[in-house]
Amino acid sequence: MAVDKTKYLSKKLQNMAESATLKMAQKARDLSAQGKNVISLSIGQPDFDTPDHIKEFAKQALDDGYTKYTPVPGLPELREAISKKFKRDNNLDYNTNQIVVSNGAKQTIANIMLSLLNPGDEVIIFTPYWVSYNDIVRFAGGTPVFVKAGIEKDFKVTPEQLEAAINPKSKLIIFSSPCNPTGSVYTHDELFELAKVIDKYDNLFVVSDEIYEHINFLGKHTSIGEFDIVKDQTITVNGFAKGFAMTGWRLGYMGAPDWLAVACAKVQGNFTSGANSFGQKAAALALSGDMGPTEKMKAAFLRRKKLVLSLISEIPGIVCNDPDGAFYIFPDISKLYGRTNGLLTINNSDDFANIILSEAHVAVVAGVAFGDDKCFRLSYAASDEDLVEAISRIKNCLQNFQ
Ligand code: PMP
Ligand code: GLU
Repeated sequence: MAVDKTKYLSKKLQNMAESATLKMAQKARDLSAQGKNVISLSIGQPDFDTPDHIKEFAKQALDDGYTKYTPVPGLPELREAISKKFKRDNNLDYNTNQIVVSNGAKQTIANIMLSLLNPGDEVIIFTPYWVSYNDIVRFAGGTPVFVKAGIEKDFKVTPEQLEAAINPKSKLIIFSSPCNPTGSVYTHDELFELAKVIDKYDNLFVVSDEIYEHINFLGKHTSIGEFDIVKDQTITVNGFAKGFAMTGWRLGYMGAPDWLAVACAKVQGNFTSGANSFGQKAAALALSGDMGPTEKMKAAFLRRKKLVLSLISEIPGIVCNDPDGAFYIFPDISKLYGRTNGLLTINNSDDFANIILSEAHVAVVAGVAFGDDKCFRLSYAASDEDLVEAISRIKNCLQNFQ
């Protein structure tokens, strides 16, 4: 008789959810492997390849012998390049000792949480949030506190909401701008108003996840850390995955107060050591290299955003705002709840995502994974052809639900 041994897993692990984005991407791959023609708009990954010049940098780095362990917080030339980038692009002063390079921004965030949180510490998560914040915080022993903004507020948390959530247990705030999953971008003035609240609490830190920095349709990106009043409380997270189409290279980084950078390097030194050597060398060169391919990707995303918004607006019952960045839309589908085709009923965002996958063979991610069960996330980092076909399939499928 098969015995269920999962009870031996740690409580922490049992309480952890599988990454919903990666799970949906895998479901789509599995269906494709069965011969189904699946269009996956689930995972957040540019459909472009890494620019050629960056691949050449990596090949050269291999030939030049960048094949060994690197210092845990990163190759000196990469930390130098990141320090310059922060100054040049973001008006942020982080010296090289304040920079830690990791195996993706995901690891950067895990390092921060593992370094800072004690049981009972509260982490204010702007909601909708990127799926893994919640589970990383809980795994590190913290308690997530969700501060939520709906579509009517462009999914953006106000200073009043933030202030109301802060109490003596609050240790950290985390948000992304441009935001995954909503695409919302906090403006310079909105960030300044949030900074004024954070400034009032010396023992409170803010993690500003700026991994979509280069996919910002508003123009100049603002980092909350550029405001002097919160400079010492801010941890700026960024990475190469989105702006340089380097998801598989696994390279993220942060700028943080010195003492926290030392702590994160300690955690990383025990878990994984430094990130991959030749990738780091290539990344260092990429930061001062040609940004033409990044600009081209951004232009393509903007064009596709307009395309998907116009197509989705033709589907009765779906309401969508116009996001200013990233490559996601996060439409509200709550008007469809209760509708059935006789066999299947859409009662929540999970039902919606599962029905769209099984009936229309389009993979999207349920909003509940991001803290908003009224919505779903669609990544438009896909070809125009796939986007047109996918939205037409969704529309046809929903016509059978009354
Ligand atoms: N933050 C956000 C908001 C993300 O969307 C992602 C997913 N790429 C990450 C962090 C993690 O990025 P990485 O692939 O560099 O680990
Ligand atoms: N961040 C991307 C997403 O939200 C990639 C998947 C993941 O890292 O969870 O889809």
